[in-house]
Amino acid sequence: MRVILFGPPGSGKGTQGDLVEKRYGLPKVSTGDLLRQAVRDGTPLGRRGEALMNQGLLVSDDIVEGLVRERIARPDCRRGYLLDGFPRNPAQVKILDAMDGTRPEFVIEIVVPPEVIIGRLANRRVCAQCKAIYSLVNCPPRVEGRCDVCGGPLGQRPDDKPEVIAERLRVYQDETAKIREHYLGKNVYHAVDGGGSVEEVFGRIEALLDGALRETDTGKAQA
Ligand code: AMP
Repeated sequence: MRVILFGPPGSGKGTQGDLVEKRYGLPKVSTGDLLRQAVRDGTPLGRRGEALMNQGLLVSDDIVEGLVRERIARPDCRRGYLLDGFPRNPAQVKILDAMDGTRPEFVIEIVVPPEVIIGRLANRRVCAQCKAIYSLVNCPPRVEGRCDVCGGPLGQRPDDKPEVIAERLRVYQDETAKIREHYLGKNVYHAVDGGGSVEEVFGRIEALLDGALRETDTGKAQA
């Protein structure tokens, strides 16, 4: 089984992806995380992608294709995996099908209105060391500017600046929302209301996935 989680920037797909990974034992493959790691490591792919990411634009399909191909070939993905942030346009849907086309799919779009997104992203802070995520409004750190988990400094993602947020939302509407039609046509598309607390949203996702995953060999992780 492959779960594809998509939604506009700030819809909480990264956070929800982590919870799905923990609950169902499906490794989360996040192209955003893989790209940010490549930028930090200063790899050739990271250097090619960095400027585009900082402007809120998509990096080229061949860059993400290489990252995903390498990641899903690892043994932990044999029984299934969760994709966060890929595919992000119709061309990437085709790339994914060509890469691993026979796996059953379950697609979830987390739906959040633009005005909520702008507020969420402007208030998001990320630990520079362990990457823990905070919200200055809903989930502030105990000590201002410091990570509760590791004490590292908190900062803002370069693409969470207001002018870049607007561009990312435009890219979502123009590119990513198109993949909805494709998965609707395949009868594997499900929309989830992304409003409310993290737990409330996860409850909605869980209600959908419990049924779907029961029918496959992907059981819940032994927590
Ligand atoms: P995310 O963490 O998913 O919001 O992704 C952050 C940024 O990484 C995006 O704004 C893009 O610049 C880039 N990115 C992530 N996934 C993809 C993808 N599938 N295709 C192209 N660019 C991507």
